[in-house]
Amino acid sequence: MERMLADRLPPTPQNFTLWYVYYSGQLPDLIRAIDLAGRDGKTPPQSLLDEFYKRFFTFDAEVQAIRETSEKARHALSRVLEQIGSVETETDRYGHTLTGFRGELDQPLTVGELRAMVAAIAAETAAIVERQARLQAHLQESSQQLAEIRVSLDTARREALTDGLTGIANRKAFDQALEDAIAEAGRESLPLSLLMIDIDHFKSFNDTHGHLIGDHVLKLVGRMLMECIKGRDTAARFGGEEFAIVLPRTPLASAMTVAEQVRSCVGARQIVNKARNANYGTISLSVGVAEYRPGEDAGSLIRRADQALYVAKRSGRNRVCADA
Ligand code: GH3
Ligand code: MG
Ligand code: MG
Repeated sequence: MERMLADRLPPTPQNFTLWYVYYSGQLPDLIRAIDLAGRDGKTPPQSLLDEFYKRFFTFDAEVQAIRETSEKARHALSRVLEQIGSVETETDRYGHTLTGFRGELDQPLTVGELRAMVAAIAAETAAIVERQARLQAHLQESSQQLAEIRVSLDTARREALTDGLTGIANRKAFDQALEDAIAEAGRESLPLSLLMIDIDHFKSFNDTHGHLIGDHVLKLVGRMLMECIKGRDTAARFGGEEFAIVLPRTPLASAMTVAEQVRSCVGARQIVNKARNANYGTISLSVGVAEYRPGEDAGSLIRRADQALYVAKRSGRNRVCADA
């Protein structure tokens, strides 16, 4: 609160959340983002703070997007209903008018009266044709609005499942993919494997080359993981410098092969910045692999892959270990 006061930041719920979490130390990524954005201990501008809020508290941003979009959808739908309702009344009225004319036709009429009646029917018909055309235009507009809403919902959904830094699946998408894969493995008695991947000595890489280069490495690793997997597999950023790959329909031995491929691929890659003509050497990965055991839940499978990862770390890093 002192900092918000000193920097004259508006006391919004977003700012409170941001600074509360910043000083509680719960989210190292957020601390780094804020510190990096505001050089020399200065506070970044509110616009950047808003962006960080969106990036680090995606759940709230998602809820917000859903709230706004459903409001829009509700509005568009009630307009459509109104328009359809008015079509009904108009057609009803037109029907009544025509019925009235038919009643008059039962009486003997003069040519003049008949002419007047035909003119009246023509006028009513022209009027309803015109009104229907207007309604059609309104309906088209509403359907256009609904189509836009659908696109923005798709975008929101995609964003909610994507990691902001690397562009690959985020933790939430990973959780969903793993649940789906477990359900499929149980249903169809198929194998399923999980890879937990952690960059070796990444803290010292960051300390040596800076967090921005570190971020660049995370993006690169994300891209390389995507290159090593097939369509039904899911590579995700599990958190920080940890990644995970869900391999449906894959037994342990094949999962070990994929893991080894990932490890050697990333390890062979020189980290360079062409613009600065700089070479930061290579990084290595440790990987833990576990195969799903029928009946176990996601937490247990993750724990076993994590234990294998721990063994890989303890036995020297830059290697792949299977869950015993
Ligand atoms: P180990 O081989 O045991 O995994 O060592 P390590 O240094 O990689 O592990 P440790 O858990 O001690 O440190 C993880 C580091 O990852 C800390 C932090 O600097 C870095 N890190 C986590 N998230 C990010 C990020 O989003 N960007 C950058 N640049 N670094 C990150
Ligand atoms: Mg780690
Ligand atoms: Mg690490």
